[in-house]
Amino acid sequence: MDCPRRRRRGPRPGVVAAGGTGTMATMTEDTTPEGCIFCAIATGQDQASVVYEDDTVVAFMDLNPVTPGHLLVVPRKHAVGLEDLDATTSAHVWSVGHELARALRRSNRHCEGINVLLCDGEAAFQTVFHFHLHVIPRYAGDGWTIKPSTKPRARSLLDGDAAAIRAAIVERD
Ligand code: AMP
Ligand code: ZN
Repeated sequence: MDCPRRRRRGPRPGVVAAGGTGTMATMTEDTTPEGCIFCAIATGQDQASVVYEDDTVVAFMDLNPVTPGHLLVVPRKHAVGLEDLDATTSAHVWSVGHELARALRRSNRHCEGINVLLCDGEAAFQTVFHFHLHVIPRYAGDGWTIKPSTKPRARSLLDGDAAAIRAAIVERD
């Protein structure tokens, strides 16, 4: 999948935080909770343009948006990805993402569609290793393409895939 967001990373321009002003600190590439940029935002130690927050999540504008209005929903609690994010927090993240996608649709950004995207793991384009959901407004002709080359998979192989995944479903929480 083509992921233009990865090509847009660079020095961080100043961003006005909700209720604050100032310049940004130097971007950190650390992936530990101590150096985690999203932990820093969630605890108010780094700036963000906040859209919504509660005790469990904070949602803010992506610094390098795919399209104007692109936002991220981030659990306050540090988790790298799907495997270590607890189910209750996960449900809340997705629920807030749903509501913010609806808000985007109703907003004066006049988007014509929404992509909700989760990048779990480097192979899936994850670059910030603190779980986050992308809510990306889409506009006709906005230029973002996802064009995988697919071909039909034989039923026997599909059945095998389904069985393998079924066998790996685990109860938790
Ligand atoms: P991913 O590739 O799914 O890990 O996406 C990480 C996203 O975080 C990218 O779209 C970045 O533009 C975005 N990002 C990185 N640092 C910041 C920041 N300080 N504030 C807002 N968005 C950020
Ligand atoms: Zn973190």
